[in-house]
Amino acid sequence: MTKDPMTVAVIGTGYVGLGTAALLAHIGHTVTGIDISEEKINLLRAGQVPIHEPGLDDLLASVQDRLTWTTSYDSVHTADVIFICVGTPPGPDGTPDLQYVVSAAARIAPHLNGHAQVIVNKSTVPIGTGDYVQRLLEDHAPGYDHERHRVVSNPEFLREGTALQDSLYPDRIVLGGHPDALQIMARLYAPLIEQTFTAPAAAPRPETYTRPTVVNTTLQSAEMIKYAANAFLALKISFANEIAGLCERVGADIEEVATGIGLDGRIGTRFLNAGAGWGGSCFGKDTAGLISAGREHGYDMPILQAAIDINTRQRQVIIDKLMRQLRTLKGKRVTVLGMAFKPDTDDLRDAPAHDLITRLHQLGATVTAHDPIAMPRAAREWTHLTYREASSVQDALHRADAVIIVTEWSDYRTLDWNAHLKGMRGRLIIDARNIIRTPIDAHVEQIGREAPVGERR
Ligand code: NAD
Repeated sequence: MTKDPMTVAVIGTGYVGLGTAALLAHIGHTVTGIDISEEKINLLRAGQVPIHEPGLDDLLASVQDRLTWTTSYDSVHTADVIFICVGTPPGPDGTPDLQYVVSAAARIAPHLNGHAQVIVNKSTVPIGTGDYVQRLLEDHAPGYDHERHRVVSNPEFLREGTALQDSLYPDRIVLGGHPDALQIMARLYAPLIEQTFTAPAAAPRPETYTRPTVVNTTLQSAEMIKYAANAFLALKISFANEIAGLCERVGADIEEVATGIGLDGRIGTRFLNAGAGWGGSCFGKDTAGLISAGREHGYDMPILQAAIDINTRQRQVIIDKLMRQLRTLKGKRVTVLGMAFKPDTDDLRDAPAHDLITRLHQLGATVTAHDPIAMPRAAREWTHLTYREASSVQDALHRADAVIIVTEWSDYRTLDWNAHLKGMRGRLIIDARNIIRTPIDAHVEQIGREAPVGERR
């Protein structure tokens, strides 16, 4: 718990805003969460969490005394620190759309006043946006004072599905801006930096964890660190997928290859999983955003473009495997297992399942889809797709000619496949996440492995 409680406003109550609000309230600050969506605010006021994030409901409930939810910006007036956590979706050419950041800044401006207030940008934004927001505030805030109202960049590195662990026990905290403002941030985050808070039941402190490294830098470098980090992780996944394709052709096994190269400390085993490719709200958007920043400066970024191209090709790799076995998809029933872009989230943004369902339908297949968590959301957001929603895995597999495992939910990892296979019409499984580890009574195709599982060696 902090010895120096502050008043904080968090603007945007999506994946990042909710994680930020929960963390800051947990370490002892008083937080107001602000969103333009009345629906979200009403849910939060009723004690419900609008997104699926493991443990978040418990953590928010445990700190509700220090949390207020509202659609009004009035509380910005008394806030010492104001976090901007709104979306920055990609425009048609990959350039991030800053309209939500700009509108948040415009609505913050009238509430800046005589006391020191730090405006912290947590949204992922093009390099230079911090300066731009500073200028917007300068031009539009009647009470603006450049000594007291400073913009800081504090990029977010949480991963959906493990957001609490990532927020409470980060590898590093990146802070960019004027040293005076960074001092206020150091006070705000003191319990996090020193790890003096009591670990919540929903997110126990990992045994080996000590404390985060704080990186104090400039606005521009902080903004670049976020983009470069995401681009590098995306690159790693595309690299694994590119090597996986060659593994299939030369008889090597990507799982063993990835372990073998990842054990080199300079490389690391994480983010070397071959599969359906990356998805989600960040990797595609941020790699495209970086390329677009390069374009603006007449600077090509061929490695990043290749990472995107390989990721797109990976969807086709899955369809090709299916076509090789079934020859045609016309009249075939194909089941897609997993719709969320990764397990433990309901986020459907840029999910591989979206592209696969679209393509399967175009090729004449009758598509059934299942997801343990994201189906209600898909029913709202994927109304333009043609597929049948399955009520259970058993229902999903019933009379299917083939199954594609697209998201590695633990429900699918632990499935009694042989029992479920009995209801299928065909016996083909495209395991696009390489989760089937024991031989089953079906033809299983995986990514980057020459022979189907069970037929190896
Ligand atoms: P999100 O879409 O889940 O949430 C954004 C929220 O902002 C929405 O609830 C929206 O209603 C609200 N909003 C928009 N304009 C507003 C305004 N003017 N005032 C108040 N509220 C407003 O987005 P997210 O996934 O939380 O991402 C937010 C930012 O953080 C993005 O820039 C993203 O790239 C970055 N980021 C996301 C993740 C992630 O895993 N989701 C991780 C790191 C960084």
